[in-house]
Amino acid sequence: MAANKKAPDTMEKLVSLCKRRGYIFQSSEIYGGLTSCWDYGPLGSELKRNLKTFWWDSMTNRRDDIEGLDAAILMHPQVWHTSGHVDEFVDPMVDCKTCKARFRADQLAESRCPKKPSKSPLECGGELTEAKNFNLMFKTFMGPVEDSSAVIYLRPETAQGIYVNFLNVKNSSRQKIPFGIAQIGKAFRNEITPGNFIFRTREFEQMEMQFFVHPNEDDKWFEYWREERWKFYQELGITESKLRWEKHEEDNLAHYAKAAYDIQYEYPFGWQELEGVHNRTDFDLSRHMEATGKDMRYFDERFTEKFVPYIIETSAGCDRTLLTILVDAYDEVEIKGETRVFMRISPKVAPIKAAIFPLVKKDGMPEFAKKVYADLNKKFKVFYDESGAVGRRYARMDEAGCPFCITVDGQSLEDQTMTLRDRDTMEQSRMTVDQIIDFLDKKIN
Ligand code: ATP
Repeated sequence: MAANKKAPDTMEKLVSLCKRRGYIFQSSEIYGGLTSCWDYGPLGSELKRNLKTFWWDSMTNRRDDIEGLDAAILMHPQVWHTSGHVDEFVDPMVDCKTCKARFRADQLAESRCPKKPSKSPLECGGELTEAKNFNLMFKTFMGPVEDSSAVIYLRPETAQGIYVNFLNVKNSSRQKIPFGIAQIGKAFRNEITPGNFIFRTREFEQMEMQFFVHPNEDDKWFEYWREERWKFYQELGITESKLRWEKHEEDNLAHYAKAAYDIQYEYPFGWQELEGVHNRTDFDLSRHMEATGKDMRYFDERFTEKFVPYIIETSAGCDRTLLTILVDAYDEVEIKGETRVFMRISPKVAPIKAAIFPLVKKDGMPEFAKKVYADLNKKFKVFYDESGAVGRRYARMDEAGCPFCITVDGQSLEDQTMTLRDRDTMEQSRMTVDQIIDFLDKKIN
């Protein structure tokens, strides 16, 4: 067996596998596709839902100090003036005078020119214009009149929905500081150079949590959340040696932030940000307090005076985490001269938890296997397959990221046991259906 995980063409192979197996399709493909927009297919939507549930459970349901929120994408336009997005949410952009393509001025080395053979704009020799600032927010109009008073933005981050609901959540949940608010939702950024499949897109989902603390305790909570978020990726089964912390040094630290670290992952296209953990100080609540006149200060009996809470933010991209899961899971193995792909996705988020096969399509095995399927299907997402040679059925499920395959054979009809094969260890053990239910429960939950 030879693992070939990080070959340079891994991304191409992954994109093609995602289409073939129904993880991810190009948006509006039959119309030629829409750049940087992707649709999640049967396996992809299941994986994404499992990932969101995994995050939500770990950030809210398993804790009593974090509340959930689901704010609207469209918000009062003034929010984006107050937050600084209208003036400052910009990337520097340059145009190439030869091919007319646009590039992010701070990412020229990573960008590729549309002319073939594709090169970085630094290598192609075309003259570049002076850098201009380009605002990344998508604008539209609310209501029937398309004038400046009707301008509204598609939110570029979910965090502002949390800040403007700070008082609502605090008052209705009766949480005391320190506490957090978590939200999963769509965000939109008119990125100049989207790319690398679902890594950088213009429509994406974020999984953000804002934790409100006393200003004297910000450093302690910042360290706490760094540790928690690192652990999250361990629990998700991401290879630890492919993760690292990247500190925002003074020169790229946002002006309002006291400290910021990114968790980076080593993708086939290099080390890149997966999630940010930031100490945003009292900047956000102070700005909204100033703009609205609403008192966002906090007081309870434990503190001697009112204060504007500091915010420790953990901000992850859902699609980017999903890409990380797929890249990390992708494994090629040579078996008897054939290259087989195994998607080693953790059972906790795998789209299909187990597949059930009758060894052959006769002698009562399909009936027995269908009964097992019906029993398991009450608790888990499982799949029944009786078509083709059993080896091909295993191979299909390995590509689909299914961690366990259960085969019903002649012995099953005699002693009610069947073989459960573990995708990653290749170990096989005989179990009854009750034992399988217990086993899957432990592996998944
Ligand atoms: P970058 O420097 O890559 O543009 P950022 O620092 O602007 O990212 P944040 O504003 O901190 O990103 O957003 C938090 C998280 O949201 C990121 O860590 C990433 O996982 C995700 N994210 C941000 N922009 C995109 C995008 N265009 N496509 C997909 N995910 C994104």
